[in-house]
Amino acid sequence: MPIQFDVDPTVAQLAASTSAFVREVVIPAERACGGSVHDAPEALREILQRGAREAGVFAPHVPTRWGGHGLDLRGQAVVFEAAGYSLLGPLALNCAAPDEGNMHLLEKAATEDQKEHYLRPLAAGEVRSCFAMTEPAPGAGADPRSLRTTATRIPGGWRIDGRKWFISGAQGAGFAIVMARTSGNPGDPGGATMFLVDAGTPGMSIARDIETLDEGLFAGHSEIVFEECVVGDDQVLGAVGHGFAGAQVRLGPARMTHCMRWLGAARRAQDVALERAGSRMAFGSVLGDLGMVQQMLADSEIDIEASRALILRTAWELDTGSAAAQLTSVSKTFVAEAVNRVVDRAVQICGALGISAADAPLARLLREVRPFRIYDGPSETHRFAIARRAVRPYRQPSSGAAGS
Ligand SMILES: Cc1cc2nc3c(=O)[nH]c(=O)nc-3n(C[C@H](O)[C@H](O)[C@H](O)COP(=O)(O)OP(=O)(O)OC[C@H]3O[C@@H](n4cnc5c(N)ncnc54)[C@H](O)[C@@H]3O)c2cc1C
Repeated sequence: MPIQFDVDPTVAQLAASTSAFVREVVIPAERACGGSVHDAPEALREILQRGAREAGVFAPHVPTRWGGHGLDLRGQAVVFEAAGYSLLGPLALNCAAPDEGNMHLLEKAATEDQKEHYLRPLAAGEVRSCFAMTEPAPGAGADPRSLRTTATRIPGGWRIDGRKWFISGAQGAGFAIVMARTSGNPGDPGGATMFLVDAGTPGMSIARDIETLDEGLFAGHSEIVFEECVVGDDQVLGAVGHGFAGAQVRLGPARMTHCMRWLGAARRAQDVALERAGSRMAFGSVLGDLGMVQQMLADSEIDIEASRALILRTAWELDTGSAAAQLTSVSKTFVAEAVNRVVDRAVQICGALGISAADAPLARLLREVRPFRIYDGPSETHRFAIARRAVRPYRQPSSGAAGS
């Protein structure tokens, strides 16, 4: 099948409207949260989302049935990059992590009743959500099989016990999607199940909000404790024992949508660097005429274009039904590292201005993009998986079995 990269005119129009909305409404609002989106008030989210609705750019990824524009991943690539130009852009469009990934998962895995109860208000921006997978050591991290949180069968439901941390958006979320072990032991490859747990359910509590390097995600990251937290059978998301496979439904596309949004941030950093390179005089010329600055600018253009091409290629694979496991790993690793390089070069080109958190957005972007090399799979974990898949066809039968 030929790869189709053309952008539909309605998608191009939506991307243009999103760019205009971000520049005219969202960027001016950035100062309102003083640099920390973690602590931004709920009112700011409501104002920005109302603005996005009025501009006709709200919920680009949400199926039309739930009130969105229903874009496929190739369409999302263009619009999410435009939204990502500001850290607040995805929040305004209701396509920020973790809600956007959770919407996708609910659309694919939830029952009709669960969709009405959880997906409809989430898609409308009436509630927020979180996805609770990672645990403090020795629990689940880069290797999800280490999962230790348990869900034990009780009459009519399940009792969840365990501890999760780095759960983005947990503070104030209306519900959590929680991964827990329903069979087997830590280290086993299966035996996990996803649960929908409403805020306020007895036994689920936030132990603390974690202070982190990044501050660009609404409500930050929290540690959550589950102690005899009881949920009903109707709160199982997907099939019992198929939680890891269910999570893959979320993770593949969610990795790509993270890439799309962060590419927008990289583009902004490069634009700031270009503006500076075209005006700042040093040693008798503008910075943009100095060879080593030119190299940085050129390398960043290359990183941005290569990232965009990889994102579109992977989005096409996912849109046309492939799981694209190898390509999502390749794209996630490349884009996370490319985005870090672009922002870092922009800081360098801008000199002290690049370090100012108040006079240019670069210092903020620098601390925001760093964690992307860790979450949604650290670069090393993806390289480990990429190499194993690449070697697999060449592995001699006598060389012993490779893991999946
Ligand atoms: C900002 C942020 C937001 C997050 N949000 C969420 C969230 O909303 N929900 C959630 O469930 N989790 C979330 N996480 C957690 C994230 O998914 C984990 O940090 C990630 O899976 C890595 O797990 P870990 O931190 O336990 O690292 P570990 O598993 O301890 O790994 C540590 C390091 O070991 C190395 N490593 C791992 N595997 C390999 C390998 N195969 N080969 C070589 N080296 C390897 C890598 O360098 C890796 O960084 C978030 C994390 C951050 C930083």
